[in-house]
Amino acid sequence: MMSCEIIKTVMPALLAEELSTDERHRMLLHLEKCGLCRDEMAALEKTWKHMDQWEIEEPSAAIKAGVMAAAREELENVHLPWWSNLRRSLIFQTVLGALGFSMIIYLIFPYDRIINLCETLKLKSAFFAYFPKGVIYFALGLLYGLVPISISGICFSGRAAEKPLVKGLGVGVIFAAFLIPFFVVQCPQFASGLVFVMALGIIAGALSGATGTLWVLSKMKMEAS
Ligand SMILES: [Zn+2]
Repeated sequence: MMSCEIIKTVMPALLAEELSTDERHRMLLHLEKCGLCRDEMAALEKTWKHMDQWEIEEPSAAIKAGVMAAAREELENVHLPWWSNLRRSLIFQTVLGALGFSMIIYLIFPYDRIINLCETLKLKSAFFAYFPKGVIYFALGLLYGLVPISISGICFSGRAAEKPLVKGLGVGVIFAAFLIPFFVVQCPQFASGLVFVMALGIIAGALSGATGTLWVLSKMKMEAS
């Protein structure tokens, strides 16, 4: 449980606007839920405003720094609910973005229409006749996996990712785990073997797209900094 004692200690720092975004977030989250601290905060805010009207000597920088260091240490112990960390995590945002982009791609190029198109291409075109059927399906799956996750990676992994390959793998696996059931449900009329090959393509695309994008981005950031 969060300790109201800790919150009370840090209240002045919140009023003085000396907290980082993360620390502020932790404080506000607690205040949202805790009526006692909210009342306390309101009272303190009142006093704070009154104090502003007096001519008070600023506390020395050393005292200020000491108070802030103690406050920061205490704030570390305030627990956040797990979803509030998750919401802001790179993996979560990238997967959510990738699923969003893949739905947009799906609306423009539905799987079954593409598969139908390839069937006719395969029959008509001498070029495609030299490929085994599965290769085309795999390549299609690869695109459906790779494109949305690469776009999302570029959009949402703004912060420099540590361990980009591990995070990329995580993003790819979660994305594929959500996308493949959707894809299978959308294509009931196609041979299960070909659906399987296309699903493999999606997995390969998701993994390579996510790890590749995060890795390249982290390299670019290292060079930029
Ligand atoms: Zn409280």
